[in-house]
Amino acid sequence: MTSQVQRAKVLVISLGGTIASTSTSADGGVVPQLSADDLVGAVPDLRSVADIEAISFRQLPSGDISFGDLVALAHVIEDYEAHGVDGVVVTQGTDTIEEASFTLDILLDVSIPVVVTGAMRHPTLASPDGPGNLLSAIKVAASKSARGLGCLVVMNDEVHAARFVRKMHSSSLSTFQSPDSGALGWVAEERVRIVARCAPLATINLDESDVVSPVALVGCALGDDGRTLGELQRLGYRGAVIDAFGAGHVPSMMVGAIESLATMMPVVLSSRTGAGEVLEHTYGFAGSESDLLSRGVISGGALDGRKSRVALILALAASRDAKNATALFVKVRESLSY
Ligand code: ASP
Repeated sequence: MTSQVQRAKVLVISLGGTIASTSTSADGGVVPQLSADDLVGAVPDLRSVADIEAISFRQLPSGDISFGDLVALAHVIEDYEAHGVDGVVVTQGTDTIEEASFTLDILLDVSIPVVVTGAMRHPTLASPDGPGNLLSAIKVAASKSARGLGCLVVMNDEVHAARFVRKMHSSSLSTFQSPDSGALGWVAEERVRIVARCAPLATINLDESDVVSPVALVGCALGDDGRTLGELQRLGYRGAVIDAFGAGHVPSMMVGAIESLATMMPVVLSSRTGAGEVLEHTYGFAGSESDLLSRGVISGGALDGRKSRVALILALAASRDAKNATALFVKVRESLSY
C-alpha cells in the first residue's frame, strides 16, 4: 500500500501593487496589471510546495485599497477556510501592507495562516523580489507551525506579525521590520522556522454593509498649536489619533484643542517614534502623557499611529456609540501582548 502525503491547499489572492506591475510603453511607468494566475505562473517551484488556487481580487496601487475592500476580502478568506483551504497568501503593494495586514488581523477569526506579501522591485527590473517573496509566503501559508499566529507579513524571507511590522525604507529589500518584537521567524530552503509566537488578537467582526467612518491621523511637530484639530468634527471625522512626541507628549499649546476634541470623539494618543509604547504616569508637565490621559485621551499603548488609526476605524465601524467603540479599541490594544 502506498501512503500519500496530503499536500497543503493554498489560496493566492492578488490586489495589485509592485509585485503585479509592468509597463505598457517604453517610456511609461509601471502600473498594476498582472493577474493572480500570472504571479503564480512566474514561480516555477511553486506547485511542488502546495496545490494553488489563484484569485484576482483587486488591481490597485496599495494606497487605493479601501477598508471596504478589506472587509470583503476577509469574508472571502473565511469562506475558503470553511471549505478546507490550509492557508492564504494575499499579494498587494508594500506601501500600505502595515495597515492592510493589521486590518485583516483584526477582522479575521481564522486559525489558518494568512500571509501578506508584495515586492519592492517590479517584474521588469533586473532582480525582482516578487517571485521569491511569493514562494516564501506560500511556504509559510502551507506550514502548520504558522497556524494560530494571526495575519503575517512575509518579505525578504522573514516572517513578521502584522501587529508590529512597519515599512522602514522607501526602496530597500529589507524594508519590513518589527522594531518592537523582531521577526517571528524565517524561511530557509523549504523550512519555515517560527521562533516566537504572539498572543491571540481580539477580533472585530464587520459586515460589508457596516459604514467605515473617517479617523484623522494628526502628526505632532515642534511649535505646533493644534489649530487643525478644531476643524475635525466639521469635516466629518468620527475619531482622531494624535501621533505625539516621544512617550506621548505634545506642545502645551495643543492641550486645549485636544481636550475639547476628546469631548466630541474618541482621541487616541500614539508615539511618532516608531517603537515602544505610550507611557502613563512618568511626566507631569502640560502636554505630557499623564496630562493628556487625565483629559479623556485614550492611550494607543504599543500601537503606532497608523495601527491605532486602523483599530479605531474598525471599532467605530462596529459600534456607532463612541463609548462602546472606545472599549473595543482598548480590547484590541490590550490583546497585543500576554
Ligand atoms: N511601491 C508600492 C509597492 O511596493 C506601490 C504600492 O504600494 O502599490 O507595491
